[in-house]
Amino acid sequence: MLVKTQGIDFYKGCAVSNWVPELLSPAGSLEKLKIAMWYGADACYLGGQKFGLRSAADNFNEEELREALKFAHDRGKLVYVVLNSFLHDSELNELPEFLKLLEEIGVDAVICSDLGVVQTVRRHSDLIVHLSTQASCLNSQSAMFWKEQGVKRIVLGREVAISEAKRIKDNVDIELEMFVHGSMCMAYSGNCVISNYTQGRDSNRGGCAHSCRFEYSLAPKGSEEYKNAFFMSSKDLEGIRVLQDFIDAGIDSLKVEGRMKTHHYVGTISKVYSQALNQYREHGNFLSDQLENWEAELRKVGHRDYTQASLVDPAGANSIFDEREHSDNDYVVGGVVLETASDYTLVEIRSPFTTNDHLEVIPFQGENIIVRPDQLLDASGEVLPKTRPGMILKLPAIEQAQTYNLLRVRMNP
Ligand code: SF4
Repeated sequence: MLVKTQGIDFYKGCAVSNWVPELLSPAGSLEKLKIAMWYGADACYLGGQKFGLRSAADNFNEEELREALKFAHDRGKLVYVVLNSFLHDSELNELPEFLKLLEEIGVDAVICSDLGVVQTVRRHSDLIVHLSTQASCLNSQSAMFWKEQGVKRIVLGREVAISEAKRIKDNVDIELEMFVHGSMCMAYSGNCVISNYTQGRDSNRGGCAHSCRFEYSLAPKGSEEYKNAFFMSSKDLEGIRVLQDFIDAGIDSLKVEGRMKTHHYVGTISKVYSQALNQYREHGNFLSDQLENWEAELRKVGHRDYTQASLVDPAGANSIFDEREHSDNDYVVGGVVLETASDYTLVEIRSPFTTNDHLEVIPFQGENIIVRPDQLLDASGEVLPKTRPGMILKLPAIEQAQTYNLLRVRMNP
């Protein structure tokens, strides 16, 4: 049985259990939270209807927040709520009422950037405060300051190397969280106004339009300079090969970016990193012949080229993704398992597919299960002429499949 405390796991009755950091996944919706936790996340972060930095995500209403907390706590997992917008006085006045709700439903921490928000949380509640990466904490003095303000955990700026994080940890007795995977921000974590000027959307108040991904050039199309016009777009972070360094530095939590990302992304990334951390937990090393498989899985979700960004050395020109946004893989979630029985498996279809496509169920643990149905039937056993999102598909029983498993499709294999 897993008993969870902040950043530390204990396996009851298990003699060998090496310490590993918490795996913290994004939850852009209630279903994504459940998928992330089923696939191994120890905790999720999410946004309410206000005060967060992802205004386009399916942010949680009160009912969903209550269900998310119940779902997580029933499984010994944690939920953090982002309050990481920079607020004006009029908005700050509305915050105490929201804090009351978060306290009542037992939120495990709130993630704040703005000093005024931190002070308001501290004055009006007993909620645990985590400092958002938006506050760009990069050094021990800054960490000490935030600790004195009552902050329990700091999400370090993405510019901090793991070796620097270790020094901060040694100098300041405070929980540290670092990004391990996902999209990067070319500015100092959101301290950017390109979207404000070009799109009328405020990055620091949830409106980032990812303007750094756009093409910028004064050179005419077709010229040599024009090819390098995506100079502000960063590759995506991938930290699977430096997990040992995070552990050696005593980093308490490893964060996966992506509240706007897909079910496929959330499930796959949570599964891969939790498998890797479990390998360490059980064996005390990452010397697994699974490493290449884990990396291959990370390449099956939509991503730009990967980089370790500044985790080891400061990010440089080789971290720039100087290409137009595109998807270099054909994998999508075709459906989600709704129900399993001894003689059938019901799947809710999310993307159309046919029997000619490569289908595989991604179990919560272990190898993917290839599925080769001769025909596609609806719940009453009638042949489906076409698959459409929302339809229910009845497949023959799939051994090991469980509710909420993702059915992945590779188009035109
Ligand atoms: S536009 Fe790019 S650099 Fe600016 S806040 Fe958004 S992600 Fe960061």
